[in-house]
Amino acid sequence: MPNVLDRLRGQLVISCQAFPGDPMEDIETLRRVALSALRGGGGGLRLHGVEHVAAMRKKTDLPIIAIQKSYMGGQLRITPDFASAKALAEAGADIIAMDCTGRPELHGEPWQEMVLRIHEELGLPVMADIATREEGEAAAAAGVEMIGTTLHGYTRETEGAKVFNATLITDLSSATGLPVVAEGHITTPQQAARAIEAGAWCVVVGSAITRPGVIAESFAKAIAVFQPHAMRYAIGVDIGGTAVKAGIVNGRGGVSQIERVPTNAFAGRDAIIASTVEAIEKVERSVAQQRIQVEGIGVASAGAIDAERGVVFAATENLPGWAGFALGDFLTKRFSLPVHVENDAHAAVLSELHFGIGRGLKDFVAITLGTGVGGGIVQGGELQRGALGFAGTIGHHTIRFDGIACNCGRRGCLEAYVSTVALVREFRARTALQSFDGENAEIALRVAQLAAEGNAAAIGAYGALADYLAEGVANIFNLFDPQAVILSGGLVESYDGFMERVSRRTEQLLHFGEKRKPTILKSAAGHMAGVQGAASAFLR
Ligand SMILES: [Zn+2]
Repeated sequence: MPNVLDRLRGQLVISCQAFPGDPMEDIETLRRVALSALRGGGGGLRLHGVEHVAAMRKKTDLPIIAIQKSYMGGQLRITPDFASAKALAEAGADIIAMDCTGRPELHGEPWQEMVLRIHEELGLPVMADIATREEGEAAAAAGVEMIGTTLHGYTRETEGAKVFNATLITDLSSATGLPVVAEGHITTPQQAARAIEAGAWCVVVGSAITRPGVIAESFAKAIAVFQPHAMRYAIGVDIGGTAVKAGIVNGRGGVSQIERVPTNAFAGRDAIIASTVEAIEKVERSVAQQRIQVEGIGVASAGAIDAERGVVFAATENLPGWAGFALGDFLTKRFSLPVHVENDAHAAVLSELHFGIGRGLKDFVAITLGTGVGGGIVQGGELQRGALGFAGTIGHHTIRFDGIACNCGRRGCLEAYVSTVALVREFRARTALQSFDGENAEIALRVAQLAAEGNAAAIGAYGALADYLAEGVANIFNLFDPQAVILSGGLVESYDGFMERVSRRTEQLLHFGEKRKPTILKSAAGHMAGVQGAASAFLR
């Protein structure tokens, strides 16, 4: 057994990582927090990213368990390919941790082969992050050295099991005979002790030690029940092209009892309605079980929405037959509750305003970058919808006269230059490699990986998109003079250098840019932003 495993036996391992967009997301800050925590008695570290691993390697000889996180379609991936494992090894990692769950869509490469290559080519032991006993046994059979309960509660199969699970530790330990690392949902010293008692080799604690935001939140929540608005609830619904999402949203933006139902949009209006009703009915059952009183149903939908009347004013072919539908009236009759309907991009902005990074800001513009470009404008603390619901259609303002054709019929729109499709186009223009076929989303993912590995064509593609986006962002600063522009979506998450380039370029483009110092922030909102924002109509 490698010596490094012996050194971890019975130890507290400090996990020190920041949420994307958190003010703590800064290598120097993370380095100091980790060092401070180690002084308290940590016997090892679990760290994300090459930079942080390299920074800590200079400061400590204690074992470092390293991971590389990335996001795909909003789902977290943990060390999804050999290249990232290799980079971590070169930065000084002692153990590579990686996702060994049965979720092939989240592995860049088959994890069994990666385990072999990490052993043979890097000479390092592997910690398998898993969610169930079966997955732990599969990882053991594949030759990993340690098994971590890290993903228990985070896979579809174990969703909702977000509590510390001592039985899983005991079961894994006896089923595999390997060292089991207790990780996930350990929030108190007592739980850490119980984990060791249950047979854990060592215990990883992260948020409860190294995330002041999470610690403060637990205190704030404990006293929030005494605030009158915190006990208000509404049902939030987000009708998307592929799925209808719904859940119970509380006065602080927390979402529970999340339901997902396929939209079946291709089958037309009745199918979309049936899916929406089904999702709401499921949430209603939880509402009844928990004896919660809900104030109303907030619905986010694609298309231009007349929010005052709850009518879909216009919608694209993605939701056939949707235009003209009095969605608000229909749901009010069906569920005997007040209903508020909001455009989905506007709902995401409301979520930002009431529960997100826009809290405390009076004037901001939020832009979501994905397959298209959506957004919304907040002025004087109010979302601007415009006369017909089209305000904030940021994707269709022109940044190049007579430029690339856009799906709205014009040429040169921002959306034609900054999207998944555009990323792939810019990348193809910069590489001679012909081996990039397949879905745009897949290729975009590959471009993100290449950019992270330092590939010039991939970085060039992101740079081009950042420069185009800066044209649009500079226009927004000139038109609205907001306190901040908030960016969210796949492009922002997938490549670290993107935000910085947009900020730098925007400052260059702005008249008096140096004096104005435009503030461009990364959103911390997740995939439930539409649900949260729609429900916020009843929670303020
Ligand atoms: Zn357009």
